[in-house]
Amino acid sequence: MADHNFDVVILGGGSGGYAAALRSAQLGKSVALIEKDKLGGTCLHRGCIPTKALLHSAEVADVTREAGQFGVVAQFGSIDMNQVNKYRDGIVDRLFKGLTGLVTSKNINVVSGEGRLVGPRTVSVNGDNYTGTDVILATGSFSRSLPGLEIGGRVITSETALQLDFVPNKVIVLGGGVIGVEFASIWKSFGTEVTIVEGLPHLVPNEDESVSKALERAFRKRGIDFKLGVRFAGVEQHETGVIVSLEDGTRLEAELMLVAVGRGPNTAGMGYEEQGVAMDRGFVLTNERLQTNLPNVYAAGDIVPGLQLAHRGFAQGIFIAEQIAGLNPAIIDETGIPKVTYCEPEVASVGLSEAKAKEIHGAENVSTYEYNLGGNGKSQILGTAGFIKLVRKNNGPVIGVHMIGSRVGEQIGEGQLIVNWEAFPEDVASLVHAHPTMNEAIGEAHLALAGKPLHAHA
Ligand SMILES: Cc1cc2nc3c(=O)[nH]c(=O)nc-3n(C[C@H](O)[C@H](O)[C@H](O)COP(=O)(O)OP(=O)(O)OC[C@H]3O[C@@H](n4cnc5c(N)ncnc54)[C@H](O)[C@@H]3O)c2cc1C
Repeated sequence: MADHNFDVVILGGGSGGYAAALRSAQLGKSVALIEKDKLGGTCLHRGCIPTKALLHSAEVADVTREAGQFGVVAQFGSIDMNQVNKYRDGIVDRLFKGLTGLVTSKNINVVSGEGRLVGPRTVSVNGDNYTGTDVILATGSFSRSLPGLEIGGRVITSETALQLDFVPNKVIVLGGGVIGVEFASIWKSFGTEVTIVEGLPHLVPNEDESVSKALERAFRKRGIDFKLGVRFAGVEQHETGVIVSLEDGTRLEAELMLVAVGRGPNTAGMGYEEQGVAMDRGFVLTNERLQTNLPNVYAAGDIVPGLQLAHRGFAQGIFIAEQIAGLNPAIIDETGIPKVTYCEPEVASVGLSEAKAKEIHGAENVSTYEYNLGGNGKSQILGTAGFIKLVRKNNGPVIGVHMIGSRVGEQIGEGQLIVNWEAFPEDVASLVHAHPTMNEAIGEAHLALAGKPLHAHA
């Protein structure tokens, strides 16, 4: 057993942990980054990157099917899952090599093994103790299930769904949130019959209601079935499939059921409670400076209540490193964090929904505008429907940008600048947007909200 001392000891090498390690090293700190699996964590190996690769294969399948309408003679044959997985793994492997090289080149000490908090600022790994002047907890999350719903066999989570080497005939997706609709979209494009079951009244229930409704219309048109506002009651497995029952008495049969009901904090059995870290239902509680109740112990990423997104983890990791280095970084505003759901059509948003804005500022102080992509040349060329919705404080800035349509995720960067820099519609309206781009639709929406619509009927 050996004792090692570092300026910063980080438990977990995912988005939050490795971002904190890189920034701490840049700031001249000695860093130990403890990881039991692979650097990059959920996002790189089981989350963002592999799912987006599958979504790209799905897009290629759709484009191939629809090629004829663009005058391209092509025939969709079938999906070769081995090749899809090879393509996906190639991307993950390249990024993993790049990340490993980057971390090593910064003289960060990567410690391989399972860590446990054994003192307020000490993590034990394989019998050795790593003590930090500061410690960052960043152990991530796992796929949750429902009480009494056992995962196994034909009842799978996203981890198994990503590893399938075949295209299932029929799938029930339990949960209409981000992960659920992304897999529904992938499978539909691959030729699977999909039914989503969501207990709340809408798909992507954390988005502006108008966007949820538009996604429901688009999914209906794509032939993705869904049951909303009805709760799951139980599932039986048999040799060739599952029978899912809902509380309204509906019974659905499928080959597999994907459980996508959210992610729980990965904090059990790591010594957090024993060391007195304040927690709530497994999440680590922090103040807005991401400090836990223990002096010099911080937490980042999915274990901290709030949006479970990789870029939030990166931002929190950087924030903590700067906080430790005494740079007094600006507090991260969660409402300013952009969200993208990469199904077809894509959904992207930043800031307040119309309902939330009215709740906070009063209905009479908020106005909205929806620019239909029907008026946008590039969207017509691509054949996508959708809209850009702006929420503004009357005589004040734009406080919410909500979008739906193919590829709108790529537009959220501007939405994010608008909301976070508190731009007025008049400010954005005077900025020239390139024609013909989908991005132009953001410019058009602001022109309209500033009272001078160009390609807009209303
Ligand atoms: C299917 C899916 C798709 C997603 N898509 C997106 C997306 O498109 N965009 C987006 O922003 N987010 C997406 N996410 C969410 C994103 O992956 C997470 O928000 C992000 O990975 C959280 O980072 P983290 O550092 O908190 O945790 P993680 O990335 O989970 O990293 C935690 C790390 O800690 C390690 N660890 C845990 N316990 C220990 C221990 N005791 N000792 C040593 N190491 C330990 C784990 O092995 C892991 O590597 C997706 C998630 C899933 C599941």
